[in-house]
Amino acid sequence: IIQIQHLQKHFGNLKVLNDVDFDIHKGEVVTIIGSSGSGKSTMLRCVNLLERMDGGHVLYHGKDILSGQMDVNEYRSKVGMVFQSFNLFNNLTVLENCMLGQIRVLKKSKEEAKTTALKFLDEVGMKEFANKPSTKLSGGQKQRVAIARALCMDPEVLLFDEPTSALDPEMVGDVLDVMKKLADEGLTMVIVTHEMQFAREVSDRVIFMDKGVIAEQGTPEQLFAHPQQERTQQFLSRYQ
Ligand code: ATP
Ligand code: MG
Repeated sequence: IIQIQHLQKHFGNLKVLNDVDFDIHKGEVVTIIGSSGSGKSTMLRCVNLLERMDGGHVLYHGKDILSGQMDVNEYRSKVGMVFQSFNLFNNLTVLENCMLGQIRVLKKSKEEAKTTALKFLDEVGMKEFANKPSTKLSGGQKQRVAIARALCMDPEVLLFDEPTSALDPEMVGDVLDVMKKLADEGLTMVIVTHEMQFAREVSDRVIFMDKGVIAEQGTPEQLFAHPQQERTQQFLSRYQ
């Protein structure tokens, strides 16, 4: 679905992404691991056009997303993103958070948007909270609503940037369970995470990023049980 080719990004003199290349195929779950500062978030942000790339191309179904042939809002609705910090609208209820994008971007009627919103809130176990203000939720609940909101846009791919890093430990499991369920249902996902056990269980492919490059990638078995690169081994040893 998405091809990332020779992606380059720098902030001033700091090269953050140096020739990053990979493809995301339909139905695949790709997790991205790596040290802080290795460029994982910047990579996702470039793919979702939240950050300007300095070089390279991102293709969506073979079309360059910057070629001007693509409607940016439509692209963003097809390639959804879930952030560490949830980014819900605080002045809206849970249900309204899930309806807004559908009405504004997908031009759906209120009724239609509501039906879809309730369906996905149910899927993440948050339907009973539909009429609560989003400020009244715990972190784990907010994140599940953020996932439901992303699903309401009928994405082809969902990008997750450390969706559980801001959560209290007892909430992490609920969010990971929802993500596992989505993976089982065949949703295409790219997940930046520090949850190694989760990455091992859920991924079709694991990418290890180091200093702005893909240092190693493979199946969970290859990467976690038989890492080839010394820097991968060093990184993983910190989690044992
Ligand atoms: P973490 O695991 O801590 O989230 P990361 O792999 O996501 O790390 P990035 O957030 O992509 O890393 O950052 C990569 C590098 O780019 C870091 O050195 C960071 O300081 C730098 N950086 C990121 N955003 C900016 C910015 N807007 N301006 C300047 N430097 C930035
Ligand atoms: Mg990051």
